[in-house]
Amino acid sequence: MTGDWKTRSFWLEHKDYEPARRLDGDEVTDVVIVGGGYTGLWSAICLKDADPAIDVTVLEQKVVGYGASGRNGGFAMTMVGRNIHQLRKMVGSGQAKATYWAMHDAISEIEEFARAENIDADIWRSGNLTVSNGPEQDVRIRQDVEAADRLGIPIEFLDPAQVQEYARSETFRIGHFEEQALILDPAALARGLADAARRRGVKIREFTPVDSVETIGGLRVEARTPFGTVHADRAVIATNAYAQAIPELRRFIFTIYAYISLTEPLTAEQWERIGWQSKCGIEDKRIMVHFSRPTADGRILWGGRDAPFMPGGPNQRHDRNQQLFDRLEETFRWTFPYLDDVRMDRGWAGPVCGTVDSIASVNWMKGQRILYALGYAGHGVGPSRLIGKIVRDMLLTGGTDLTELPFVTKRPVPMPPGNVLRRAVLDTAHNVLISVDEHPERADRGLGKLALKILQ
Ligand SMILES: Cc1cc2nc3c(=O)[nH]c(=O)nc-3n(C[C@H](O)[C@H](O)[C@H](O)COP(=O)(O)OP(=O)(O)OC[C@H]3O[C@@H](n4cnc5c(N)ncnc54)[C@H](O)[C@@H]3O)c2cc1C
Repeated sequence: MTGDWKTRSFWLEHKDYEPARRLDGDEVTDVVIVGGGYTGLWSAICLKDADPAIDVTVLEQKVVGYGASGRNGGFAMTMVGRNIHQLRKMVGSGQAKATYWAMHDAISEIEEFARAENIDADIWRSGNLTVSNGPEQDVRIRQDVEAADRLGIPIEFLDPAQVQEYARSETFRIGHFEEQALILDPAALARGLADAARRRGVKIREFTPVDSVETIGGLRVEARTPFGTVHADRAVIATNAYAQAIPELRRFIFTIYAYISLTEPLTAEQWERIGWQSKCGIEDKRIMVHFSRPTADGRILWGGRDAPFMPGGPNQRHDRNQQLFDRLEETFRWTFPYLDDVRMDRGWAGPVCGTVDSIASVNWMKGQRILYALGYAGHGVGPSRLIGKIVRDMLLTGGTDLTELPFVTKRPVPMPPGNVLRRAVLDTAHNVLISVDEHPERADRGLGKLALKILQ
């Protein structure tokens, strides 16, 4: 078996993992799930917990966690959409509130599930600090706090002195803090979920790429792979950005790549300089967000900034890009100038499934046999648990409170048709957003002004 999956991220590499065997010949099951990331694995677990008699098979083209689930920053947050202010504007107060509390439950459930199943994923409930780095970002901090206050959501405003108590940087201004957020080792979580699914009787076939999923006579489905066909009652497409290969889904999703740089381990004295003792996650309020967190072995993970659009979809050749790692290092040095003796050790990237409104979507394709669940737009660690429960409800029960949430009821916003127009729109949007962040003084003109009107 090829071992190139190990080199895709620090997380996939730093702990041992023995992949499972691939599919070997035809199989019959009740539900076949395509994709062994958090969405596929949580869906499998939730289905089995609701009905232990149901047969579930997960087919993964490489290893579990090979996609974004094994490469991300490891922030499990309640956030859905771009932020709580935006979510409220988009779906209204009632739906925003219901979504928030469903996410609040999901975060607690991840923590409890990991504890109950002995998943060793270095999970800390250290909360999440969101900071502003400039006056335009102050506005966004205040918008979130105001929206949270109106909705009765526990997000706390922090003045400059309070922000510095979490971590010292001259670039940090005001901020807000949410306790209901976890920091974790993402690949270890994916592998722990796979083990928990196996203990429940789920069959997980790794190194098994699915070439097609077809409905047969409207009564059953076939997932075809080079090593055999899985015949099932229903299928779930949980392939995140890789679903761009499916025309019905490509209409409303696009692929962006998120980049991460990782420092070497800091000494105790270097940690002392930044006073980041609580180990909380930190995000900023740029439009193209930066995120950073400590790792269990004492490094700083620093990610975000560019996130370019990749018209051809996921491809390993985007997994490393020195120019983008250099740009990440530039903002790291700017934020923590007194860590000038800390070296960057490595970097990686992964595919993010973008949607226009940044809200994940779960719905049926081709009648009631094939369900898709994807489109987290960069915030899927927490929401994937909730989406797993929604997949369960849609497959087993039909309507529940969870299937009334925007993930199901809000129609995904379609992309412009045709490759040329699609590419032009996405490239322009990306360039405008980068320039709004890097030249905020010019953001009140032309397309920048329009972008801010939509995003703020
Ligand atoms: C660099 C980076 C940083 C991020 N940071 C955060 C963060 O800190 N917090 C947060 O909430 N979110 C973050 N995200 C987003 C988060 O990782 C994703 O939203 C989440 O992992 C999506 O899970 P998933 O299971 O839907 O998709 P994936 O993890 O991508 O899983 C899809 C799986 O499908 C498999 N697959 C694809 N095609 C096929 C096929 N034809 N046959 C079989 N298998 C197939 C893939 O190999 C993959 O394993 C980040 C993403 C990236 C890339």
